[in-house]
Amino acid sequence: MSLQLFDSLSREIKPLYPEDGKQFRFYLCGPTVYGPAHIGNFRTIALHDVLYRTLKTAGLNPYYVRNITDVDDKTIKQSQKEGLSLSTFTNKWANVFADDCVTLNMLSPDVEPRAASHIDQQIDLIQKLVEKDAAYQANDGSVYFRVSAWKDYGKLARLKMEDLQTQKTTSSGAVNTADEYDRENISDFALWKARKPEDGDNFWASPWGEGRPGWHIECSAMSMEYLGESFDLHGGGVDLCFPHHENEIAQSEAATGKPFARHWFHCAFLNVDNEKMSKSLKNFHTLEELLAKMPDPMAIRYSLISGHYRQPLNFTFNGLKAAQSALAKLEKVVTSALQIASIETENFETLFQESPSSEWGIFEKAWQKLCDDLNTPSCLGELFKTLNERTNEEISKN
Ligand code: AMP
Ligand code: ZN
Repeated sequence: MSLQLFDSLSREIKPLYPEDGKQFRFYLCGPTVYGPAHIGNFRTIALHDVLYRTLKTAGLNPYYVRNITDVDDKTIKQSQKEGLSLSTFTNKWANVFADDCVTLNMLSPDVEPRAASHIDQQIDLIQKLVEKDAAYQANDGSVYFRVSAWKDYGKLARLKMEDLQTQKTTSSGAVNTADEYDRENISDFALWKARKPEDGDNFWASPWGEGRPGWHIECSAMSMEYLGESFDLHGGGVDLCFPHHENEIAQSEAATGKPFARHWFHCAFLNVDNEKMSKSLKNFHTLEELLAKMPDPMAIRYSLISGHYRQPLNFTFNGLKAAQSALAKLEKVVTSALQIASIETENFETLFQESPSSEWGIFEKAWQKLCDDLNTPSCLGELFKTLNERTNEEISKN
């Protein structure tokens, strides 16, 4: 079976392949670095790590770009609170994030671009939109994307244009309560934010005066910089579907006239008591905090990928304990399968080659589960089954 995955844009399961026939190019919206990432963030990142490894194993030669958001309201506000420059402050948290990724055995992306180092690319993209009349400078000095000029707006989130135009919903997803605003339409979103006193030293020169980019434009500019105007897949947590990814599609396609990402991959939330784990709800756990209670980071990784990516996963400490014992069992069956077959641990792959009937030998079924919409729980189930059967067969032979 070839590798296939649900696409949130077409709402269909579609095969994955590199359009250029050479390299599968994909982008993930990474963390905003204003504090430690929580394990909800790491669920999405771990699932993209599994996707990256699966693409590699399937021979699709993936090229993985994951950004770091290091300039926005939250990073600016928090750096000021701590009396640090924005770059000193965001570097500190980007380093903590990098260490956490290593602890959780995530492969590094091929490129990890930061928004504040790509201001020129963002300005160039906004300039293109202004030239095409898809963006305009408003009385407040900021530049906005003209949502009404983009006929396909709402295609990812399946929003009704009438609701946006009659202003029942704003492009930030909130119900509209504003009486007055500088934009032509409340749904128009900021591409460039005019400098305000509270921004402190954090502003850049642009054709529209001093200011800083809005959040959405960074991902369009950086994905196009490293992957080209059209690429194979774009991913993130399901919270980003609207408005962030909707806005990315609109501004990118309006600027280039070409389809942006061909496939959209969204991971459901890690929840706590059926609510999204998030910093704003203060119901989050960091890796550091969990490791103090459960020193095995691989058990945490196992728990993050143990549910299907399209289903929310409820975080509990009991669930974490269950993940730890499942992992210990898996390690035990792997060890005995290797011992019985007299294979050294470092030659683990030779287990694959034992059955000439299929490419993946005894792991064929587990591999098929991953290829079928990245079904990690079924894949793990097949691994257990196969290794148990294998061990029992060898025991009865000896
Ligand atoms: P942020 O740091 O909020 O920009 O988020 C970084 C990544 O984590 C994004 O791809 C989000 O969609 C994702 N994310 C945030 N919260 C959760 C959650 N509770 N469960 C799964 N993914 C999440
Ligand atoms: Zn993004």
